[in-house]
Amino acid sequence: MTSSATSSEIIAAISSVIGDVARPVALHEPLFAGNENAYVKSCIDEGWVSSVGAFVSRFERDLAAFCGAPRAVVVVNGTCAIHAALMVLGVRPGDEVLIPSLTFVATANAVVHAGAVPHFVDVEETSLGVDPAALRAHLESIATRKDRQTVNKLTGRPIRALMPVHIFGHPCRLEELAAIAREWNLQLVEDATEALGSTQDGRPVGSRHTAVFSFNGNKMVTTGGGGAVTTHDEDLYQRLKHLTTTAKQSHAWAFLHDQVGYNYRMPNLNAALGCAQLEQAPRFLAAKRALAAAYARAFEGMKGVRILPSPPGTESNYWLVTLLADQAGEAWLNGMLQALHDAGLQCRPAWQPLHLLPMYRDNPRSELPRTQALAQRIISLPSSVRLGLPYLQS
Ligand SMILES: *Cc1c(COP(=O)(O)O)cnc(C)c1O
Repeated sequence: MTSSATSSEIIAAISSVIGDVARPVALHEPLFAGNENAYVKSCIDEGWVSSVGAFVSRFERDLAAFCGAPRAVVVVNGTCAIHAALMVLGVRPGDEVLIPSLTFVATANAVVHAGAVPHFVDVEETSLGVDPAALRAHLESIATRKDRQTVNKLTGRPIRALMPVHIFGHPCRLEELAAIAREWNLQLVEDATEALGSTQDGRPVGSRHTAVFSFNGNKMVTTGGGGAVTTHDEDLYQRLKHLTTTAKQSHAWAFLHDQVGYNYRMPNLNAALGCAQLEQAPRFLAAKRALAAAYARAFEGMKGVRILPSPPGTESNYWLVTLLADQAGEAWLNGMLQALHDAGLQCRPAWQPLHLLPMYRDNPRSELPRTQALAQRIISLPSSVRLGLPYLQS
């Protein structure tokens, strides 16, 4: 720690990348440079602003194509998308769902919305995602198989699903985790809310397993607020669509509902914005990757810190470019964030690990040594698309 880069060196490196854009510089702001105005205006002009309209189906088709999945269902936000996905995957009240502790709080909240219990597991440094080896060891020590079901020996509850998260857009070690899910009869769903456009072995995130996306204002592309589930499973798609649209049977006039459904459908206005945003996604991705490359060059050779590259075999969307300190602590992190903030650079730490939050303190969990250490070593740098655009021209 003695020889680590100083805050002024770090500020100078960031400034050399983003140039003289007005301070304060936001962490991640949306860019509307395409057909947003035209599409949203057409909704208003034609009166299709709400739960019915052509942009909803179009956004679902465009999104599925972009993610390399046959089907997508779009909903009001990413949290509801996770909730709905867990329900149709068979997660029931009283079940446990394995998730990382190092993630945004919505991952855990959605599990609770489904009546289930978040069970926190540790992450690894390469991807910041769930560590397959640690997960396997943890399951072997606390879980048992009973009638093709995995049960937590300590709580007596079924462990029903595994939901890894692609943190900051970096794909986690998904195929190893999928193998563990198969061995232990766990449903697998990816929290890909931060990873739209990221690829793994050349294939987009969301193209292999059931995955959830978010289109909140600070994500890769935005619909204002929004979320989606992509899937290969036609039956799952049908049930998801039904459940998120008040479980109404199609009929010319009658109100026939066959279960307690949810009003999670994305409004046409938001889908219109999404269609326009998705048209620009390839350019957004290129800009963000170019920005990450510029940051990596600027920090090259700097002592004690580095830009976290895409994990081997993957290409991150670099939703948030991550500066990782070799070793750090709360004092280092807070001092650095204060200095960056004073310099007009809106940088952020990783989230407070969820097992430390009051509502999740008593939840089941594995040992979490890397989660706790990494949470004090991560700083997210300003990562808006527009900061990367100048690097596309050259
Ligand atoms: C953004 C996000 C969500 C939730 O998405 P919303 O659209 O904000 O509800 C869930 N998980 C992670 C990891 C996220 O970053």
